[in-house]
This record gives sequence, structure tokens and C-alpha cells, in this order.
Amino acid sequence: MQTKSEGRGKLIVLEGIDGSGKSTQYERLCEHLSAEGYSYRKVKFPRYGEDSSALIRQYLRGDFGSDPADVNPYAASVLYAVDRFASYMTDWKDYYNNGGLILLDRYTTSNACHQGSKVPPEGRQEFLDWLYSFEFRLLELPEPDLVLYLDTDIAVSSRQMAKRRSGTGEKADIHEKNADYLAECLEAGHYAAEHYGWTVVHCVSGGNMRGIDDIHEEIYSKVKEVI
Ligand code: ADP
Repeated sequence: MQTKSEGRGKLIVLEGIDGSGKSTQYERLCEHLSAEGYSYRKVKFPRYGEDSSALIRQYLRGDFGSDPADVNPYAASVLYAVDRFASYMTDWKDYYNNGGLILLDRYTTSNACHQGSKVPPEGRQEFLDWLYSFEFRLLELPEPDLVLYLDTDIAVSSRQMAKRRSGTGEKADIHEKNADYLAECLEAGHYAAEHYGWTVVHCVSGGNMRGIDDIHEEIYSKVKEVI
């Protein structure tokens, strides 16, 4: 089985609950790295346009239940992990193993937040141990070198999500419709961030989002430390 030292590339993950500004910061990070002449591959999860996300799409539109809690966190995690496995095998494995830099918008870390939120506190550790072992040891996906966790609060995130939807006309999925669920994801994210030593970027100041550029500069300096 592959171990961390055998993978020769770098893997950087942007993580955070919906409305934390991930997509915005991800694009900003990519633009800045391009402007500085870095080569990298962009990988975003879930890959809604691919066959490997068919079951995720069923889950998110509510085919297995309209409440996220209707679907066991272990089962739901497998659906997302399979999409990552397909992406790795068909898209970026060789690039990564030849020393490439991979920038990820969500990864295994999203299962830790979203699915971890469904697990009661006393089962959280067991869930995380299972998750990391499943994706990184059994499926042999590479482990991230840096996870940047965009920390926010529920009021700000809900506002940001509403703003994005009004701009794009997109519909809320079963995760996004449920405010309690979002709060539980935030708590699970804090737990995982602490447990795995993720780099936390505090995106809210005085009840509002910090400026996009301000957050970006912090993210960029952390990224530069590992590439
Ligand atoms: P996510 O990918 O985490 O769901 P997005 O990057 O799509 O979040 O951001 C949600 C909305 O908030 C978008 O409309 C985006 O333009 C806006 N936004 C993102 N970051 C900031 C920020 N720092 N300040 C103000 N608005 C922001």
C-alpha cells in the first residue's frame, strides 16, 4: 500500500462549511499561483458532472431521504469517497506521483465535517478513525499536506449562501436547506480541525466576513510555506 512518503507531489485542500467562501478563495488562490508561474492541477469535489457522482446526486436531491440524518454517515461517506477514488485514478494520480501540485476544493475532509456532523459526540472519534483509514489506507488516496479550514459562523455562512443563490439561481440541496445541519457541520469541522491539526483561517471578524483579499493573503502565505 502507498504511504505518505511515496507520494511525491503536494496536496492542498480548502475546506469549510457551505457559504464559508471556499469557492471564492479557491479561485483566488489558483489565479495568484498562476500569476506567480506555478503549475498545478485543480480538483473539485463532488464532481457533479461525472458518472462517479451519480449516487451523490441521488443523495443530495433526497432520493434516500429528505433529511441528511436519514442517510447513515458511513454509507454517505462511501458515496463521496468513491467519487474521489475515480477522480484520482483517472485524472491526477500520475501528475501527483510525478511531483505535481494538486489544489483541492473539498476532499476527505468534507466527509469529516458533513458526515461527521451526524455522529453523536461519543462516536465522533471512531468515525474519524474509520474515515481516514478507509480513504487513505484502504482506498489508497493520498493524504493532504495542508488543509486550510475556513472558519465562519452560521449567521454569516447562511447569508453568504443566500447571496450566492440569488446570483446563480441555484437550488438548495438537502444539506443547504437545513440550518441545524449547517451548525452541526461547523461543530464537526472544529472537532476535526483540532484533531488533525488543520490550519484554521478565521474568516469572520466583528460579525462580518473579512475582505476577500485579506483572507486570501493569509491563505496564500500558508500555501507558500508548503510548496
Ligand atoms: P462556498 O464555496 O464556501 O459555499 P462561496 O465562495 O461560493 O462559498 O461564497 C458564497 C458567497 O459569498 C458568494 O456569493 C461569494 O461571492 C460571497 N463571498 C465569498 N467570500 C466573501 C467575502 N470574504 N466577503 C464577502 N462576500 C464573500
